[in-house]
Amino acid sequence: MLSLLEMRGTNLNLETVNVCSAACVFCASRKFKRRKQLMSMALFQKICCDYKDMGGGWLGFSPVMSDPLLDDLLFDRIRYVQDKGFGFTLHMFTNAIKFKSYSDDELRFVLKSLDMINISLAGPTPESYKLMYGVNQFNNVMDNCTGSPTSGKMNVTAPVWPYIFV
Ligand code: SF4
Repeated sequence: MLSLLEMRGTNLNLETVNVCSAACVFCASRKFKRRKQLMSMALFQKICCDYKDMGGGWLGFSPVMSDPLLDDLLFDRIRYVQDKGFGFTLHMFTNAIKFKSYSDDELRFVLKSLDMINISLAGPTPESYKLMYGVNQFNNVMDNCTGSPTSGKMNVTAPVWPYIFV
């Protein structure tokens, strides 16, 4: 194992966008004033090819201080990785706030395409969520995760279901 780690990394996390829909009290994103940026597809494709040449492995849409669902090119990136047959294990961390605006087809596509989705969720009440995340989105996120009748997500089924951590 040590010799493998000395040879190359086995998990690459990319910050493809640098904005977030939350304002967590524990996150440094509130301190940084970065210009909103989106990683170009050309750069993303080069990184994927280089990573594959290195041996590949896990590829995460898991930025440090932003949410990958705000990446307007997320679907294109996933399709690119699939079409090229890189064989990466795709995963992401997300606050799941934006799932609300996804159509059922879009949600199904993401759930089926990624091997693991970690949903960052504080609770257990709307009030404590607001204190921690700085936005009033607890019920929205819970609806998105549980398939509440009010969310319209209850008819979405997929072989992969998010792993939720608190
Ligand atoms: S959801 Fe994640 S990236 Fe966004 S503010 Fe909270 S800790 Fe930071």
